[in-house]
Amino acid sequence: MLERIVNDAGLRDKLILQMQARHEIYDNGCWIWTGSHDGSGYGRIKFRQVVIAAHRASYAINHLVNPKDLLVCHHCDTPACINPEHLFLGTDADNCADKMRKGRHKSGPVLKGQDNPRAVLTVTQHDAVVALIRKGMTNTAIAERYGVHHSTISKIRRGKSWGGEEIGKPYFTRRSS
Ligand SMILES: [Zn+2]
Repeated sequence: MLERIVNDAGLRDKLILQMQARHEIYDNGCWIWTGSHDGSGYGRIKFRQVVIAAHRASYAINHLVNPKDLLVCHHCDTPACINPEHLFLGTDADNCADKMRKGRHKSGPVLKGQDNPRAVLTVTQHDAVVALIRKGMTNTAIAERYGVHHSTISKIRRGKSWGGEEIGKPYFTRRSS
C-alpha cells in the first residue's frame, strides 16, 4: 500500500485528507496522532481496507519514499508523532536509538515550566486545551489552569496542520446562537 501511495498522487491526496483530521500540532513541534493507536502508542489508520502505521504513512507521503522493511524512527521519541520532520529511517531498534540520541543532542533538551514559552502539555491536557479554546476561553485563563505560558496556548490556537486548517476555529458550530 505504501508503494502505491508514494507513486499515486491522487491516492496520496485522499490519505492526506483522512490524516489531516486525525492529528494536532504541539508546541514542541510534534504532530500528535488523535486517531486509533496500536498497543505501543503508534498511530494507525485504515485506508482502503488496509491498516497502516500513521508515522510510516506520514513518512511515505512527505518524503515520497516507501520505507519498505526499514523502521521509521522518531527523533522526538514520541511514537504518536507523525511530523515528517521528526521521522527518519533506521535499520533496526539499536540504529534508531543511536541516531535519536545524536539528533536530540543537536537540538538540546526540552525545557518545561510555567514561565517557559516552550513548555509542553501532555496529550490529554492538549485535548482539553483545544476543547476550552473552542468554548471561547482566553489564552491567559487556560494557561493559568494548566500552568504553562500563555504563548503555549496561543500556539495551539494558531496551530496549523497539512491543510492549513486552524485548530482555534471550532469544528462544530451546530449550536445555534
Ligand atoms: Zn515529534
